[in-house]
Amino acid sequence: MTADESALAERLQRLDEQVAEAARAAGRHPDEITRIVVTKFHPPELVSSLHGLGVRDVGESRVQELVEKEAAVGPRDGLRWHFVGQVQTNKARAVRSAVSVVHSLDRERLAAALAAADPHGVPLDVFLQVNLTDDPARGGVAPAGLAGLAEHVAALESLRVRGVMAVAPLGEHPEAAFSRLADYGAQLRRTIPDATWMSAGMSGDFAPAILAGATHLRIGTAITGPRPVRG
Ligand SMILES: *Cc1c(COP(=O)(O)O)cnc(C)c1O
Repeated sequence: MTADESALAERLQRLDEQVAEAARAAGRHPDEITRIVVTKFHPPELVSSLHGLGVRDVGESRVQELVEKEAAVGPRDGLRWHFVGQVQTNKARAVRSAVSVVHSLDRERLAAALAAADPHGVPLDVFLQVNLTDDPARGGVAPAGLAGLAEHVAALESLRVRGVMAVAPLGEHPEAAFSRLADYGAQLRRTIPDATWMSAGMSGDFAPAILAGATHLRIGTAITGPRPVRG
């Protein structure tokens, strides 16, 4: 193992210990929680190193980077790619062919494009992203539009809605933001009863996310170290 890899292994282990501790403190079992390592801006070699350390879930937030990185890493035993960023509708096909899970489905046109990319394939797992801010540019459906979007997506056989996703807004306590998200998850289950997943929690706020019921954490810098600067 290189020095970089042992530092990576150490950060990964420390994060997983903190996740387990937060889960126990919340009266939950750590096995209920999937930790996704967000590797955006980092080279493909980082994904290979993470895979060697046992990581099976990695996340990306830009389509082109996702496609290039996945090709460079190549097939790896059990490796699942998650897309967590904003997607232009015309990139839906590229996303669908590269990932196992899309966390950022936030509008009907994108749902239609993801479905059309593989109408008869194994259903794609998706989260409906909810915008917890008043700024539409942040991505996510406004809470008032969640039920309508859920009904639309539930009718698409090649997508499987698994739950809600959000990024905590700046300037609101993450506890409050994630508890709102948990309420939206409960609301979603009135339309789709088995949509029990919740994608929430990043390096700075995974403990409150776990307390609020997050099942999928999207962790970048706490594991990878600082991201390389990139335009
Ligand atoms: C980059 C990113 C993350 C990871 O953020 P960190 O603060 O580095 O843990 C999580 N979710 C989304 C949507 C991201 O874009």
